[in-house]
Amino acid sequence: MRAAVARGLSEVAITDHGPRLRFGLGVRDGDELLRIRDEVDAINAMNPGITVLVGVEANVISCEGELDVPKEILDQLDIVLCGLHPQAITKTWRDAVRLTWENTAIARLSNRLYRRAREDNTNALVAAIYRNDIDIITHPGLWLPVDTAALARACAERGTCLEISAGHPYMTVEFVKVAAREGADFAIGSDAHRPERVGELARGIAVAEAAGLPPSRIINARHD
Ligand SMILES: [Zn+2]
Repeated sequence: MRAAVARGLSEVAITDHGPRLRFGLGVRDGDELLRIRDEVDAINAMNPGITVLVGVEANVISCEGELDVPKEILDQLDIVLCGLHPQAITKTWRDAVRLTWENTAIARLSNRLYRRAREDNTNALVAAIYRNDIDIITHPGLWLPVDTAALARACAERGTCLEISAGHPYMTVEFVKVAAREGADFAIGSDAHRPERVGELARGIAVAEAAGLPPSRIINARHD
């Protein structure tokens, strides 16, 4: 929060990873998100000149689009992000084959499996978008390939944004153009992971500008 104030931000969202991520990368459980909720409510009440939003970056854990945070918890957060992560602990073995194994380097050696992985990844994300109230899909296409146009169509229909991640260099201008054409809006995220990188958005802004995206299509841009 102090880093965000120093950067001149008027709002910052704290969105830790959901609990079903390997290597202890995420929150322990939904209760931890509620504890963060309480802490942030106290900070906001002190009025430090910035609004802190509480959120989560939930994991998709099944081909049917289920998330690793229950709806009762999501309803108490200000912002819900969701992404596909190869480190996610899926719900069933079938989900593990389709959302984890198919996306491994070995499976990538087969064109047929690559196409199937792309289809399964896209279907899982689209199912998640229709099943849950998601504000932003994080780093679409990072690590796991997706069908950009199909994903963007679902986003446009459900009012879900696509993240332009300034923290990962993978995102192309072409991706943004294809998604924008389908009517999806965007959020530029720092994916900071550390206070020093909070508000570091330059790379994302450059991609948005190169794609000709107006500020009105970016939910966290100032446009008056
Ligand atoms: Zn992520």
